[in-house]
Amino acid sequence: MVRKTEHVMAAVCEMGLARRATRSVYRTLFFSMLLFGVFVGTQFPLFAEQALNTSKAISPSFYVMCVGAGLVVGLFNFFLFKIVVSKELFRLLVGMRKINESMDQALHTDKQFELACELEVTSNDLVGEVAQTFNNMSAAIAERINQESLVRTLMADLSSTVDPKRVAENILAAVLKVAECQGGMLLSLQGEELEPLASIGLDEGVRLPANLDELSEGAVHAIKRGKVVELAPGERGLEKVRVQTPTGQVRPNFFVLVPLVTGSRTVGLIVLPGLHSSLVPARLQLIDVFRIHVAPYLYNALLHRKIGEMAALDWLTRILNRRFGMRRLREEFSRSLRHGLALSVIILDIDHFKMVNDTYGHAAGDAVLKEVASQLKKNIRSGETVCRYGGEEFMILAPGNDLHDGSVLCERIRKLIEKTTVRWAGQDLQVTVSLGVATWPVIPASVVNEIISAADEALYFAKESGRNRVAIHQGDDVRLYAEPAIATN
Ligand code: GH3
Ligand code: MG
Ligand code: MG
Repeated sequence: MVRKTEHVMAAVCEMGLARRATRSVYRTLFFSMLLFGVFVGTQFPLFAEQALNTSKAISPSFYVMCVGAGLVVGLFNFFLFKIVVSKELFRLLVGMRKINESMDQALHTDKQFELACELEVTSNDLVGEVAQTFNNMSAAIAERINQESLVRTLMADLSSTVDPKRVAENILAAVLKVAECQGGMLLSLQGEELEPLASIGLDEGVRLPANLDELSEGAVHAIKRGKVVELAPGERGLEKVRVQTPTGQVRPNFFVLVPLVTGSRTVGLIVLPGLHSSLVPARLQLIDVFRIHVAPYLYNALLHRKIGEMAALDWLTRILNRRFGMRRLREEFSRSLRHGLALSVIILDIDHFKMVNDTYGHAAGDAVLKEVASQLKKNIRSGETVCRYGGEEFMILAPGNDLHDGSVLCERIRKLIEKTTVRWAGQDLQVTVSLGVATWPVIPASVVNEIISAADEALYFAKESGRNRVAIHQGDDVRLYAEPAIATN
């Protein structure tokens, strides 16, 4: 009941507003109709005189009658016009208000907005044209509202993270919406190297280009100049890209390459495979504007990652430096304490390294350090960590490895380095390493330094025992793991 009353009140209100809004037009119309009626009334006797050939038509009483009749007709015309036109205008007004209200609401939310209704075009006259024009206008406004809310949401998402992958996923998802494409990928560009950061709606198994030289000359030219280009389906480096659709994988009909440029630098590349004939120019224009806004976010995220890596990595060997190695050790140790998981810590030292420097020069020593680091990095398992602990010392963390596993790992590394040769100035350099391993909970440490001291003690024992050996700390004492195959001393 209350609702019904509200509706009636709203309708009355609307009618009131409609009346107020059109009042001056009606007033003009009212007086125009009356004037027209009077004019016709004054002219009619002259016509009557001519047509009927009688001077009676010019009498004052006939004039008054004609003017009176003219006024009545004018008044009648006015009301007739008002009824017909008001009905139509009122219908348009109610529809416009509904659309206006839903747009108003959409402006205050970040949800995608869909026009719930549009004005019915019932005639092909001016009223019909007004309705159609209003529909076109509200559709255009609705699209702008959606784009604005998309940009607002995207900017909020982009500001909330500096992780390049998350930034790339957010950018790609938004660009796909703007472009109305089903799939696409975003790759970062650093120098000539491409790194896939995000992929949506594409066949996951396809290997994406890792370097600019895997793409065609035309594509590289466009990327370097920062121009959006459309490429043919068989484009080099992208031949195998397929779009996932509900009916299966589909080969694209074309590709749009969207370089992400900030300043004069291309920092990334969006690849949009299209399934239709080509992208609508309006969409392309939008993407062109869009990419300028998002590129700095990708650049910042990549820069942030690079700074993080630079702070964490050793400048020479490109493995973790001591500071970050120690941080990882503290993390792994507290995880071991929490879960009761064994943790082996290995300290490795290159034997007689000073001799390498003295004999072949410091640069040769650097080359050896790099090769040893690279071998260590390549031969540890995922979850294990290697860092440069000091000048020619390295630390390996092996969570989940008990004393036996840790010792086996040490022996494997010892043999590996023993076999490794470093080509330097036409000569093959070879070094050996000594390793000490300590394991929690065999070493009942409560702080990380206690395990490190134990591993150091074992390393010292290995050195003392002749080098190129593995020594293990057993809690109470230290012993060699195995006799070395070839003693260097
Ligand atoms: P040991 O078998 O007892 O470990 O003998 P060592 O010669 O390896 O050990 P020592 O501590 O006497 O010498 C380590 C040398 O490592 C001295 C130092 O100049 C060299 N060194 C440390 N950092 C670097 C580096 O970054 N590059 C080069 N080339 N040499 C380094
Ligand atoms: Mg040393
Ligand atoms: Mg040494």
